[in-house]
Amino acid sequence: MRDFDLVIIGAGPAGLTSALYGSRAGLSVAVLEHQMPGGQANLTFDIDNLPSNDAISGFALSKKMRERAESFGAKIIEDKAISIDAGSLIVSGESGTYQAKAIILATGAEHRKLGMPSEERFAGRGISYCAACDGAFFKGKKVLVIGGGNSAFGAAVYLSKISNDVAIVSRRDRFRADRCLVKSAKDAGVKLVPDLVPFEFRGGKSLASAVFKDRLTGETKELPAEGVFIYVGISPNVELAKAAGIELDDSGYIRVDCDQATSKEGIFAAGDVCGGIKQIVAAWGTGATAAIRAFEFITSGRH
Ligand code: NAP
Repeated sequence: MRDFDLVIIGAGPAGLTSALYGSRAGLSVAVLEHQMPGGQANLTFDIDNLPSNDAISGFALSKKMRERAESFGAKIIEDKAISIDAGSLIVSGESGTYQAKAIILATGAEHRKLGMPSEERFAGRGISYCAACDGAFFKGKKVLVIGGGNSAFGAAVYLSKISNDVAIVSRRDRFRADRCLVKSAKDAGVKLVPDLVPFEFRGGKSLASAVFKDRLTGETKELPAEGVFIYVGISPNVELAKAAGIELDDSGYIRVDCDQATSKEGIFAAGDVCGGIKQIVAAWGTGATAAIRAFEFITSGRH
């Protein structure tokens, strides 16, 4: 068993900010992460809405956030947390056990799937959920992006630099994405195809087309595509919290108060797993709040 003042689960923007604040305040801090530190920020191409920076790639920002946390002494440990004992504040991972005085859950969220059998069949054979990871395989090919939010538009702009045949297919005639991203996509030559609801994917060994139902007419439309990138929203990673008996809100996110405290004493949560505005600066804010409140909890002797 390894002892730390603060154990943070998840090394995305929220978790790494908590790690920076916690270690800078003098706590011994462990951050458990089983994937690349940076979380979903790693999948974002050009982040141009940080008040302190010019546009920066998600990958570069993730590296900076990690280095900042480590520079104050936080330990980033490659381990997957598998359970939390909310009474004793012990976190069990696949490779170790960690005794904490306070815990911050910063487990983030992941891309939602459409949930169709044919989607699963072509995953990795033309269907992808990460343009930054897989876009290069589709150089010069016909590519569709399904979705209408910021993620879909950001991905389409990125893909337009690799292929000159990129279309965004949305199930409505309006988009959730910010206007500036819609404009960037239009300027980059991305076609916008409204009112098509995904129905199935077709092909042989690899993907050849995507079939949609027209929302207005009910007609079926088959669009040829060698690549389909699915960006239809995100779902919070709450399994650990649920298993530990931590309350969720009606939308399935971890319920926190204004101090980022969960329903279990000594356990805080921050970032996308708590819902709200899914922005890096928002994750930084809740990550900082959680760490400050965790520090107060630990030093007040209430643990
Ligand atoms: P989102 O904003 O929730 O948008 C999801 C999109 O997918 C919507 O257009 C939705 O359509 C569509 N959709 C959902 N289920 C679908 C289905 N079964 N079939 C077809 N389309 C479906 O998700 P997101 O783009 O992943 O963004 C998640 C959060 O991260 C948002 O809060 C976003 O602002 C934030 N984010 C911000 C930035 C940035 O600021 N640069 C970048 C990326 C993400 P409907 O509109 O019809 O529901």
